[in-house]
Amino acid sequence: HTKQTSVKLVLLGEAAVGKSSLVLRFVSNDFQENKEPTIGAAFLTQRCTIGSKTIKFEIWDTAGQERFANLAPLYYRNAQAALVVYDITKPASFIKARRWVNELRENANKNIIIALVANKYDLVLSEESGEEVDGARKVSIEEGQNLADEEGLLFFETSAKTSYNVNEVFMAIGEKIPDN
Ligand code: GDP
Ligand code: MG
Repeated sequence: HTKQTSVKLVLLGEAAVGKSSLVLRFVSNDFQENKEPTIGAAFLTQRCTIGSKTIKFEIWDTAGQERFANLAPLYYRNAQAALVVYDITKPASFIKARRWVNELRENANKNIIIALVANKYDLVLSEESGEEVDGARKVSIEEGQNLADEEGLLFFETSAKTSYNVNEVFMAIGEKIPDN
């Protein structure tokens, strides 16, 4: 039989960037246009198979509001992986993502696997042509990629709405988890 590895994963990022929506897409392949804000944190699990190993993701989806920020260490303290999420149409959320990366580097596990996730990619695409609409994007792909390169992060642009690259984020993390 295949080995099963549990991976404790935490989602961090400003409120409304789509953290809960990414989890809903990954766990239930679903999307809700008006998702209610997360209070405190939510816990979900999802198993997936990568090559010869089975990974059970134990997912802590945190609330992004400032009043919950002091709770975040409870969730990232023992995490083996983190998704730091921003909204590519909201520059302030990218600044916040950079702060989360710094906080993780200072306080989380030294070998934590971090994926920087630039969400809501669908919002910058034209429905007719499928091409990017000029000016729709407020955080360039280079800004995201540069931060990822500087800090040694995985980097994906995603859409929880269309499911673009959502499984890929979790698969890339799973591939980096050492066998035990
Ligand atoms: P959270 O506070 O980071 O957990 O964000 P939510 O998952 O609650 O999402 C906030 C709002 O953004 C909701 O109305 C979602 O439907 C919407 N949303 C989340 N992800 C996407 C996405 O990829 N594209 C679009 N267009 N909207 C999204
Ligand atoms: Mg949420």
